[in-house]
Amino acid sequence: VIAVRNIHKRFGNQDVLKGIDLSVAKGETVVLLGSSGSGKSTILRTLNLLDLPDEGDVFLHGNKLGQPRPDGTRRYREGELRSLRRRVGMVFQHFNLFPHLTVEENIMIGLRRVLNYSITQAREKARHHLHHVGLAEKALAFPDTLSGGQRQRVAIARALAMDPDVMLFDEATSALDPERVSEVLRTMRQLSQEGTTMVVVTHELGFAYNVADRVVFLHGGRILEQGTPTEILLHPTHAPTREFLHAHT
Ligand code: ATP
Ligand code: MG
Repeated sequence: VIAVRNIHKRFGNQDVLKGIDLSVAKGETVVLLGSSGSGKSTILRTLNLLDLPDEGDVFLHGNKLGQPRPDGTRRYREGELRSLRRRVGMVFQHFNLFPHLTVEENIMIGLRRVLNYSITQAREKARHHLHHVGLAEKALAFPDTLSGGQRQRVAIARALAMDPDVMLFDEATSALDPERVSEVLRTMRQLSQEGTTMVVVTHELGFAYNVADRVVFLHGGRILEQGTPTEILLHPTHAPTREFLHAHT
């Protein structure tokens, strides 16, 4: 569905990504692990070109995005970026729902503005996706009356309502109270089991073990190792992976 090849990214004089190759197949759930600063968020932001790579290519459904420039980098047109971002749903650590809109209006707004849905169509779709994340009864509530976990599930419903080809999750549970983490992980697990294509950055090793089809361990801007959850979580072959797992269990 989505892939990157030989991605390099520098911020100032710091090489943050040093040649990342990653390809995510339809229906696959890939979990990215790595210590702070290893480049996990930057990879997610490169997958939907919120961060433009200094080198390397991004592919959607096998098509290389952008047009080549003489210096070897690629130029991305605004329309191409818009259509990519519509196909890639993203859920961040800090959900940003509009406080003055109801839950269903928060979901409807993108459908109305980006996909030109009528109010009736948008409301129906919003309710469908709220039902999907177990929040049908909260359609008319305002965000500040919801728990953090409920708000994060609204953010997931809002991303899903755009019918993305792939969903990216960047530490979607790490700002939540411990007792709210599991409800969001359960929703993410359900999506994975339904065949949603997902790339998930998380420190929840139980989720990685139980849900991931593939675990990718990043270290210093490179993929150090990747494999099945059993291979990476139970039989890591590199010392940094072992140290990371030790620190997070
Ligand atoms: P964490 O687990 O803390 O979220 P991460 O693996 O997601 O870490 P990134 O956010 O991808 O790490 O950052 C990788 C490195 O790139 C860090 O050293 C960070 O300081 C740097 N970096 C990221 N974004 C920027 C930016 N916009 N400007 C400058 N440096 C940045
Ligand atoms: Mg991050």
